Amino acid sequence: MARERGNRIPFEIDAGGWAEGAIRCPSEHFDERPEGAPLDLLVIHNITLPPGEFGTGCVQRFFTGRLDLAEHPTFESLRGIRVASHFLIERTGRVTQFVSCLKRGWHAGVSLFEGRERCNDFSIGIEVEGTDFVGFEPVQYEALRALAIAILRRYPIRAIAGHSDIAPGRKTDPGPFFDWSRLAVPEILGLGVRFPYLR
Ligand SMILES: [Zn+2]
Repeated sequence: MARERGNRIPFEIDAGGWAEGAIRCPSEHFDERPEGAPLDLLVIHNITLPPGEFGTGCVQRFFTGRLDLAEHPTFESLRGIRVASHFLIERTGRVTQFVSCLKRGWHAGVSLFEGRERCNDFSIGIEVEGTDFVGFEPVQYEALRALAIAILRRYPIRAIAGHSDIAPGRKTDPGPFFDWSRLAVPEILGLGVRFPYLR
């Protein structure tokens, strides 16, 4: 609870779009955002690799193009896929950054938000290590809130959505066990962001 004691959040986004306080694991799975595109959406995902296994390091290797597909039978389906979110929050609460917030990370795929397609153009993606079938760890929500606050202070993010909200029928993450009420808290709502899909 250093945040409360020190009255300071543990992350701060620098001028290059990198979060001080996060581990840097640069990926080449990004490109430039379109000129003039707003940066106004935060997208929450879940991921595990292999499916359902935690703390394997496979997500980091997948996002940086270093995953050995022979490592697990399910990995063959990942052949040729080049993706990376900006951030990953592991079960321990550890935060890793793969792509600068200023760049277009390849995390959302075919997607639509309030009439705008290709959400990668105008969003930042955060993967929370987990599945559609089990709850997330309290330290993951803590890290997610702190990271979201740092991002919201730096960029004009107007809304926070789940991957399943912007790619319905195709994606199910962050899934039914993701507790939105632990993200939609006063200290985040107070920064002027909306949760348009929260009921
Ligand atoms: Zn996703």
